[in-house]
Amino acid sequence: AKAAGRNCFRAYEPELDDSHRLRVQMENDLRLAVEEGRISVQYQPIVDAATFEVVAVEALARWWDPVHGNVPPDVFIPIAEMSGLITGLGRHVLLTACAAMRDSKFDLAVNLSPAQFWDGELLREVQAILQETGFPPERLELEITESLMLRQPQGACEIIDGLRALGVRFALDDFGTGFAGIAYLRQLHFDRLKIDKAFITAIESERRAQDMLVSITGLARACNLDVCAEGIETAEQARIALMSGCNRLQGWLFGRPQDAEHLLAFSSDTASR
Ligand code: C2E
Ligand code: CA
Ligand code: CA
Ligand code: CA
Repeated sequence: AKAAGRNCFRAYEPELDDSHRLRVQMENDLRLAVEEGRISVQYQPIVDAATFEVVAVEALARWWDPVHGNVPPDVFIPIAEMSGLITGLGRHVLLTACAAMRDSKFDLAVNLSPAQFWDGELLREVQAILQETGFPPERLELEITESLMLRQPQGACEIIDGLRALGVRFALDDFGTGFAGIAYLRQLHFDRLKIDKAFITAIESERRAQDMLVSITGLARACNLDVCAEGIETAEQARIALMSGCNRLQGWLFGRPQDAEHLLAFSSDTASR
């Protein structure tokens, strides 16, 4: 029995080994990519819900690697967070995005990971990047998720208020997926709620999801918050989101994440028509 058990264990060992090796290799390759500035940034348009005019973009990190191919951010962002690479990566994304969008008319939304948020250098770093790029702080919106606040809402409040004093705005991302959202709305000073795609997907088929969306936008209004619906893929979802009180819409219906040159060429095209 012992021998079988040992065999059994051994049978799995190489697999664990392989996935561990892949993870370590990915981390090393990601470190190089960050150091060499090979993390690129794409921009997804965000439109005014009533006019469908592009008013903002969300910056999304992209990593293409010769060995691993296109690695999705849902894979490499957690690796970056666990390995301490996220501060460098996040700084690179913010700097790149501010530089790319400075001369546009768009608001710019950038995701902040928990490690970046709690880093202690965030205020100084954002300030330095705004100065270096000349990007107007009032057009920058930092997106954070509620999981980030779980530890220390009071501390989070101070960090948010420090940046808001510069003119930078804050959005609570992925709203509707966690548990504590409402308590944080009362304690922290956000400017916008972003309703998660999972929620938006349900509004076409589930009456309850639609009713809840109306309540959420009502709650948002009570807190003086704008609402952006994420993951809008169909015209019907856009219609319901507008009717339910959302101010901004984001999703494939209006455009996928794309390179800055493409987005800016396209939007000046439509503006001149
Ligand atoms: P997120 O912040 O919720 O970003 C929205 C995600 O939804 C993006 O995925 C976007 O491409 C996708 N999306 C937008 N509209 C649609 C739609 O209509 N249908 C579908 N199916 N998807 C849509 P992406 O680019 O793969 O990013 C995934 C997550 O990775 C982001 O979720 C964010 O949490 C994280 N992330 C991406 N870039 C960064 C970054 O620079 N820093 C940090 N900290 N996190 C990032
Ligand atoms: Ca986001
Ligand atoms: Ca989101
Ligand atoms: Ca998300």
